[in-house]
Amino acid sequence: MAEAVKKKTQIVVVGGGAGGLELAAKLGAHFGRAAYDIILVEKNRTHVWKPLLHEVAAGALDANLDEVGYRSHGYRWGYRFFYGAMEDIDRTAKEIVIAPILDEDGSEIMGRHRIRYDYLVLALGSVSNDFGTPGVREHCLFLDSRAQADRFRTKLLDHCLRVSRSMSAAPQDDAHVRIAVVGGGATGVELAAELYNAAAALKHYGLEVFDESRLEVTLIEAGPRILPALPQELADAARAELETLGVRVLTGMAVVEATREGMKTASGEFIRADLRLWAAGVKAPDILKDIGGLETVRSNQLVVRPTLQTTRDDRIFAIGDCAFLVPEGAERPVPPRAQAAHQMASAAFVNLKRLVAGQAPKPFAYHDHGSLVSLSRYSTVGSLMGNLVGGRMAIEGRIARFVYASLYRMHLFAIHGVFKGAAMVAYSWINRIIRPRLKLH
Ligand SMILES: Cc1cc2nc3c(=O)[nH]c(=O)nc-3n(C[C@H](O)[C@H](O)[C@H](O)COP(=O)(O)OP(=O)(O)OC[C@H]3O[C@@H](n4cnc5c(N)ncnc54)[C@H](O)[C@@H]3O)c2cc1C
Repeated sequence: MAEAVKKKTQIVVVGGGAGGLELAAKLGAHFGRAAYDIILVEKNRTHVWKPLLHEVAAGALDANLDEVGYRSHGYRWGYRFFYGAMEDIDRTAKEIVIAPILDEDGSEIMGRHRIRYDYLVLALGSVSNDFGTPGVREHCLFLDSRAQADRFRTKLLDHCLRVSRSMSAAPQDDAHVRIAVVGGGATGVELAAELYNAAAALKHYGLEVFDESRLEVTLIEAGPRILPALPQELADAARAELETLGVRVLTGMAVVEATREGMKTASGEFIRADLRLWAAGVKAPDILKDIGGLETVRSNQLVVRPTLQTTRDDRIFAIGDCAFLVPEGAERPVPPRAQAAHQMASAAFVNLKRLVAGQAPKPFAYHDHGSLVSLSRYSTVGSLMGNLVGGRMAIEGRIARFVYASLYRMHLFAIHGVFKGAAMVAYSWINRIIRPRLKLH
């Protein structure tokens, strides 16, 4: 009788973002293909590191040059890439359910199907939270994905062109591109500054009568100040820099409705805007709510134990923005940041290796290295803290810019290895010199 074929141990990672892609590469490189099958399930075909999306939206970065194709990356690193969106988990069968895959015209390429797992890591990230505010879904743009960032850029360029045309035809017209950005966190602040950089560059690319003075950007924050994660003096410095650029910064002002024409605020003010971007908070994707009977919180994040295993299933881990973990002794959960996703990917890798070897998993310790906010080429502000400096240290300027860029370098090294990672850093540096300053299509 033929010997029964032993099934490979299947480790499935869902979501190939800042955390998931790093983890899939580490698992693939470590376990190889002989006795293990490492699978990455992702609903996009290519990866762009999410903290770059405001640069993609403003046209400062051509995402085509920085994107990573999952299929070729998986071939190189020893994991298999499955294109598709997870929609459910069947914990009894130990399978995840993948939604039907459709082509551009809506025809089905592949029906609903299932993928078996021995261990499952959920790394689905987060999406913007509109907190149920009327009109936001219909009338606002978001920066949750590459496609959305591309959409913002196209609309921005269309509006700039419209204003440039009308100024050429009637120079006495005081036409402006009006943009409202809701949310004074890092995403909103970084985008607002990046828009001025883009507008300043446009006149070199055919929009001769257009410059940054044609922009009217309003940054609206419900809280008492922008950048609540940074010390007050740095938030003040960032605000002053934005206001010098021309941004109107409104704090303590909640948006109660978005319309096609602009934003209504709780105080009754109506802020007219051609482009409306919502960046006022995040939640985990709705499909995670109570998925497979796992424990989730109001923001749909999966509650994990210090080992990053979900509270109700030892075989299922969650990392990055979709994981909810309040470290022992801390008052707040680990924040939804790229550095947290990066650290959790490394910790989940160690724990999966330990579990497979029959050892107990280790608790994850989050090291907050601080936050940095890039105001495009104008400035970078932030604070470094924790192990790096043994306290909190405010930094600004070139050093801050260098440290800010090194977070992305760490991601490149984690997903490409040292040699290719270094080549990618050099490549993007050369590109900054030889390519146009703006992506105009
Ligand atoms: C404009 C912007 C600027 C930012 N700047 C910073 C910064 O300066 N510093 C910082 O620390 N953080 C920053 N962040 C936050 C940072 O991007 C996130 O914290 C980080 O990307 C989280 O990593 P992740 O792996 O959890 O999720 P992500 O990187 O978002 O990856 C999640 C992946 O899961 C995939 N996915 C989602 N649902 C499904 C599904 N159902 N099936 C299959 N795949 C799915 C998505 O397509 C995505 O590829 C910024 C975010 C934005 C938007």
